[in-house]
Amino acid sequence: MINENIIKQIKDYAELNNVPIMMDDSMSYIMKYIKDNHVKSILEVGTAIGYSAIMMCSVDPNVFITTIERDEKRYLEALKNIKKTKLEDRIQLIYNDALEVKVEDNYDLIIIDAAKAQNQKFFERFEKNLNPYGTIITDNMGFHGLVMQESDEIKSRNLRQLVRKVKDYKEFLEKNIRYETTFLDIGDGLAISRKL
Ligand code: SAH
Ligand code: MG
Repeated sequence: MINENIIKQIKDYAELNNVPIMMDDSMSYIMKYIKDNHVKSILEVGTAIGYSAIMMCSVDPNVFITTIERDEKRYLEALKNIKKTKLEDRIQLIYNDALEVKVEDNYDLIIIDAAKAQNQKFFERFEKNLNPYGTIITDNMGFHGLVMQESDEIKSRNLRQLVRKVKDYKEFLEKNIRYETTFLDIGDGLAISRKL
């Protein structure tokens, strides 16, 4: 079991430093998914400070995670947090851009939770690393409620483009016949794509 105090410290740090960690409901859903589906290996794109990786690892002592982060400050904070929780043996942290790094292993579950405009690129880059009948879960499909808004209500041009990208990615998933994707209105929106 992981020390509740350490988890609280990590969440407080995230809040104070505006680190967009996973929402509680999404976290609980994914943890239950790992348990129910006997997930043993996970690849995560977007570590931030290690919060979601640590939580996923806490589900079962047989879970192993590889997680990728390109921001140095967050990577260093994640390293610290993983040491504090004594999960160095089960969480492999890669400090690199996920669109550059070569990943050879295969995983039962892939979590996409990095730059939202790049979701399709991450999906296409890492689906070769998915085990047969594996699942890819993408976070922030609702994009903080913005995906549901009319585009002329969104003031900034950059933000409109980003929302467009999230919508395009949704369409990409819907049309992808090699996966069955379910969109869940949990937390900031999750896409659950099961490989057929
Ligand atoms: N999964 C984390 C939150 C991740 S926030 C949690 O719930 O605890 C998204 C992170 O993805 C940010 O820290 C950002 O630096 C990182 N990121 C964005 N694009 C990336 C890329 N191309 N490669 C690696 N990391 C990336
Ligand atoms: Mg997220």
